[in-house]
Amino acid sequence: MPVTIYAHPLFIKHETPPSHPESPARYETLLTALSPFPQITPEPRPIEDLILKAHTLSHLAFLKESTIEDEITCIDGKDIFLSTYSIDSAKQAVINICQAITDLKDGRIEHAFCLSRPPGHHAEANKAMGFCLFNTVFLGALHAKESGFTRVAILDFDVHHGNGTDTMIRAHEEENLFFISTHQSPLYPWTGDAETSTSKILNYPLAPDTGSTEMRTLYTEKIFPALKDFAPDILLLSAGFDAHEADPHGGLNWTTDDYRWLGEQLKPYKTVSTLEGGYNLPALRDSVLAFIEGVG
Ligand SMILES: [Zn+2]
Repeated sequence: MPVTIYAHPLFIKHETPPSHPESPARYETLLTALSPFPQITPEPRPIEDLILKAHTLSHLAFLKESTIEDEITCIDGKDIFLSTYSIDSAKQAVINICQAITDLKDGRIEHAFCLSRPPGHHAEANKAMGFCLFNTVFLGALHAKESGFTRVAILDFDVHHGNGTDTMIRAHEEENLFFISTHQSPLYPWTGDAETSTSKILNYPLAPDTGSTEMRTLYTEKIFPALKDFAPDILLLSAGFDAHEADPHGGLNWTTDDYRWLGEQLKPYKTVSTLEGGYNLPALRDSVLAFIEGVG
């Protein structure tokens, strides 16, 4: 069964300044490329109760207070921007992953790819970080537990460490929730050293300028056996594509074919992916397509 795409027009409305890498064009490019696949557009619905299980009330209040109608506002003095519909867009990312998980639980789909923005894996309980406002994948994991999945794994293959997901899993002490991250190190957000791994969090840094061979060896020898041992009944993916050799933000030199291979290896699991990074538009388009063709 092909991968089902979870989309929403709100993802075009999260505006960033013209030169910003995390742009509405990422969504538009992917939506066009993924048009042959089955697509679901979940209706917006109240989702703040779930968001507040992982984020603080002051975080939500700060984002709301920082939003100025018809303006694009920088909230960290650097590279995180809010526009009129940014909070709605970030909420929709959470709604979409939850809908995909529910649909998978009910047997309506086998694999989902949530074509969402902004990304989520850097967002911490009380802090927006690295273009991320809410931690979509962690909130998805909480929803998966509430939906009756018992063993929930998150694999984060974005080039950056999923620091927000990592800290939330440490803070929540949720049973049978397992997190694996592979990421370039040193690189933003400067976390995810191997020494920080625990029984439920595996951090695997990869050195800059490594490539396909190192990536496939690490996944074959460490990641896939760890996943097999944990035996998740659902696998959530922080699906970032900025480890691609053409991406301006990473230096791991993964190829489009590496993403196809990764997708093929994950096919035996029930997967729900949510889009994280990936900033070279042609490379992002080709990598997402290859990954989805591999999984489906
Ligand atoms: Zn990234």
